[in-house]
Amino acid sequence: MVRHSSRIELSLGALAANLRFLDILTGSKCEVVLVVKANAYGHGVTEIVPMAEKAGVRRFAAASCHEAQLVSEVCSEKAVIIIMGILYDEDLAWVIENGIEFYVFDIVRLRKAAEVARSIGGIASIHLEVETGGNRTGLDRSDLTEALRILRENPRHLRFAGLCSHLAGAETLAATFRIRKQIEQFEAIRKRVQKGRMRPEKIHLASSAAAITIPEVAYDLVRIGTAAYGIWPSPDVQNLYLTRTTGRNANPLSRVMCWKTDVMHTKKVAKDEFIGYGTSFQAPREMRIAVMPLGYANGYPREMSNRGHVLIRGRKAPVVGSVNMNMFIVDITHIPGVRVGDEVVLIGRQKSNVISLRSFSEFSSALNNEFVSRLPAAIPRQVVR
Ligand SMILES: *Cc1c(COP(=O)(O)O)cnc(C)c1O
Repeated sequence: MVRHSSRIELSLGALAANLRFLDILTGSKCEVVLVVKANAYGHGVTEIVPMAEKAGVRRFAAASCHEAQLVSEVCSEKAVIIIMGILYDEDLAWVIENGIEFYVFDIVRLRKAAEVARSIGGIASIHLEVETGGNRTGLDRSDLTEALRILRENPRHLRFAGLCSHLAGAETLAATFRIRKQIEQFEAIRKRVQKGRMRPEKIHLASSAAAITIPEVAYDLVRIGTAAYGIWPSPDVQNLYLTRTTGRNANPLSRVMCWKTDVMHTKKVAKDEFIGYGTSFQAPREMRIAVMPLGYANGYPREMSNRGHVLIRGRKAPVVGSVNMNMFIVDITHIPGVRVGDEVVLIGRQKSNVISLRSFSEFSSALNNEFVSRLPAAIPRQVVR
């Protein structure tokens, strides 16, 4: 196989440690569902699913039926897959036959699930997602009685696998009031449902931010993406955790991903020359530069033009000029001895320096997830200890 212009290393130890931290935090009765949408937040679903199974994860959540299929190709027999988002009617039969669980947030889908399950002699495992104030997907309160009636009338074809909802931004402290109201709503619905004859097998509400900051809403399952990959959901969540902890476990999350490339070319540039396209960088003195073999088409964001840093020989080299489609340039004037083929760290540690994931999002919105989830699937992933 020919070589790719960059590579991603995935740390099994880091993933296992993050999952252990979340397990301890949410208590022994609660189980982590690993959210692996968006190619496992850009980490690579093919590698992450078997790694997570080794670390004891049994449940995986995907955003779509297509993603669920990818998970089903790499998981073990024991694994449970849940589809939280888009699922087309024509895929219902496949999903039910394969025992894949799925969210239902309207009556039409619930009836259709029962009908398809009956027609193929199977049983559809559904998670009833209820509206609590997020106003995205979620069954309206006025439809709850009808939904429970349909479940009750189809015991051989509908399995009430879960009752759930999603919080609208537990990442930010500014949303605290709205989140509190959502939790109250969810509690009211949970009590109403659990009083009836149809009881859900699992109750779940929290994703990473709520699991860390409001552990009392962990219920039976927590759906964890961000934190499992070693990414803090937001500075607010990190701060809140740090102010509450005794300092014994001040840094409980470790980055799972390390992204590397190597030097493609080096050259000298005379003072006052422009570097790369346009005039965004003019050499203030004679400089040495190194050319990187990847650009925004390969996942390195254009926003890092004249802003980002990489590590070469353990030292920080700043990006100079604009990030192009398949190349960008860094200043290595201060780093002696750089040669073509030298290892370059784009994210991760090299000797005593680190390039953090957060450095990629500070310039744009506050979302680390946007950047990682866009890392191309074509970059080879390698599992390391
Ligand atoms: C993405 C997603 C999650 C995981 O959220 P993180 O903040 O990454 O832990 C949980 N639940 C739903 C419904 C989601 O869409």
